[in-house]
Amino acid sequence: MRRLPIVFLILTLAGCIPHGEAPREPPRAEAPLHAGHDQASPLQCHIDLAREGVRFRALPDQIFGGGCSALNSVQLLDMGTPVTNLRAMTCPLARQFARWSREAVQTAADQWLRSRVVRIESMGSYSCRGLNGQPGARLSEHAFANAVDVSAFVLADGRRITVQAGWNGEDERVRAFLRAVHQAGCRRFSVGLSPDSNAYHYDHMHFDMGRGPYCR
Ligand SMILES: [Zn+2]
Repeated sequence: MRRLPIVFLILTLAGCIPHGEAPREPPRAEAPLHAGHDQASPLQCHIDLAREGVRFRALPDQIFGGGCSALNSVQLLDMGTPVTNLRAMTCPLARQFARWSREAVQTAADQWLRSRVVRIESMGSYSCRGLNGQPGARLSEHAFANAVDVSAFVLADGRRITVQAGWNGEDERVRAFLRAVHQAGCRRFSVGLSPDSNAYHYDHMHFDMGRGPYCR
């Protein structure tokens, strides 16, 4: 492991490399979908992001009060579709989020809405808080920058599909689209929560890389 610092420097710089200039590595087996608290392979995660043409910035590890932290985290700069309100995300979460948004979200939008998603609206990733925002509860994966909340999708045709209005709304194609992206999220993240999970999620989908799998 003596070469680690050099490799790390190279990979940190890789976060600034534009599309198509990712470090060349021999092909590897696909990483498991549920990487969980994947602190063991931060370098591999950076390689994966760079190879997939995602521009990102590696963030310094941060330990906050109250047991909260953001370790092995990145900021996504460009993965094709702009996303609002995204800052620190653990690298495994960011990797799955990029794949989900590029593959599942666009496929579902094409299939169900005959359009493309041009912006994803999030309600953020890192937040030092308990489960469901309850004080005294076990810390949420948000407290580790290991969760993201998605509230809406803006389409190329101008429509804005919100989880709050659309999940149980009148448009069955919108309902199908939202359920498709939620189900696809459940396959990529450890946990996927929708408005069907509990009242706290009436206006967003929650995805995290904590303990799972759990999909509701
Ligand atoms: Zn959440």
